[in-house]
Amino acid sequence: MARPGGGPSRDLYAELVRTGPGAAVAQRLGLPRPAVLRRHADGQPLLAGPALVLTTGGEPSVFRTREAGGALASVLRGAGAHLVERAEADGPRLGAVVVDATGAARVDDLAALGLALGPAVRRLGPSARVVVVGPAPGSAGDPEAAAVAQGLEGVVRTVGKELRAGATANLLRLAPGAGAAEVAGPLLFLVSARSAFVDGQVVEVAAAEGLPAPVAAPLDGALAVVTGAARGIGRATAQVLARQGARVVAVDVPAASADLAATANAVRGHALALDVTAADAPQRLVEHLGAHLGAGGDRRLVLVHNAGITRDRLLVNLDAARWDAVLGVNLAAPLRLTSALLEAGLLGEGARVVGVSSTSGLAGNRGQANYAASKAGVAGWVRALDPQLAAAGATANAVAPGFVETEMTARIPPLLRQLGRRTASLQQGGRPVDVAEAVAWLAEPASAGVRGQVVRVCGQALVGA
Ligand code: NAD
Repeated sequence: MARPGGGPSRDLYAELVRTGPGAAVAQRLGLPRPAVLRRHADGQPLLAGPALVLTTGGEPSVFRTREAGGALASVLRGAGAHLVERAEADGPRLGAVVVDATGAARVDDLAALGLALGPAVRRLGPSARVVVVGPAPGSAGDPEAAAVAQGLEGVVRTVGKELRAGATANLLRLAPGAGAAEVAGPLLFLVSARSAFVDGQVVEVAAAEGLPAPVAAPLDGALAVVTGAARGIGRATAQVLARQGARVVAVDVPAASADLAATANAVRGHALALDVTAADAPQRLVEHLGAHLGAGGDRRLVLVHNAGITRDRLLVNLDAARWDAVLGVNLAAPLRLTSALLEAGLLGEGARVVGVSSTSGLAGNRGQANYAASKAGVAGWVRALDPQLAAAGATANAVAPGFVETEMTARIPPLLRQLGRRTASLQQGGRPVDVAEAVAWLAEPASAGVRGQVVRVCGQALVGA
């Protein structure tokens, strides 16, 4: 699928230190040894080992029920996880530790959390998951409770940096009124192999009405538009959305028609050769979707603005053409296309808009003022767009990839490429499929409580962390 002369970047260092002699040398010299991450495979169990659910902090927990472990445990059990009562020194390695910290409100609760989590973290297996569920700081009734709610973030992000062997740690923050129904989809994504490269993240979950339980093919009945789908992250996104049940419209520039057709064929979808910056792009997309939405039973639209370009120079050398090109593709086009679909009434009940931001945008990156402006812009845009979609029962969110092995990152100088990989907690770059899984999760009906957020898919990269 790579175009002539191109091809995604490849992590030769990681390949080397996974061989016997390479591993021995890396161990002796104390060099990073990136783990092979557990990723989604059809038919695999939710977790690589049993799950432990802990409840820490004072009363009342949102999830405590008469059932052992409360509502979080029943979500996990319902998805096939095997639960254990405690982390035994001679017991099996844990696949996940989920902590109900919704009752945490006093300073001492933070220490209690850390002390409860410590022994469990010792027993984690490869690619295990730590997920802490806590209150949103803004929802806490008093300053101490707000401090503690925010303090959870410090614990979780630190645990993410301490874990090894592909394990991750993430925090779900519950807004007032949100409970087990809203948390189920995000929790199952974060404990699953699908979130392999989502690490050190904080995702807020809002109250949502009429939430369905997570199901096996959550995108059945959805029509998904993916821009920039001829290769890289866009192609992987088309594939994962199709795997999850969506019918896909793959969009890319006319010059990429051959690769675009290959993507569309691979997912049994449609190809639409379209430059998203063209003056008539909104109209053509509306017409195309008008013809397809409803045909084949699709009712819900999923719009993924993945097409993106870089034109890097230090700010002092950035000319108008480089500013215009990058802002045009990465920011202005998503805004125009989305407005047109909104006006045409196509972003209705259950629709999802997913923008693609970047950790470079969130943190700033030398040589990328134009790109960072566009990608930080995406973050601001989805935050403001989401409330406009709420009345129609739709959401807007973004993913922010860190270093992902694609043709875009193959153009980065070798030393910077190594830094990009090794400075992440997971000590490696992500794969296009990692970003695709996060996009597909945001597109699910069970993600309706995730609104206006930017979820980094970056292996807890130092940049933007
Ligand atoms: P890529 O260069 O491999 O693919 C981008 C695709 O977008 C190409 O197929 C290209 O033809 C298409 N495209 C470009 N301009 C277009 C236009 N005007 N109309 C329609 N299609 C157009 O890039 P990638 O690495 O797969 O990145 C995908 C997205 O993820 C981009 O938005 C990028 O900024 C973002 N991102 C990537 C990384 C990474 O590490 N690879 C990191 C952060 C963010």
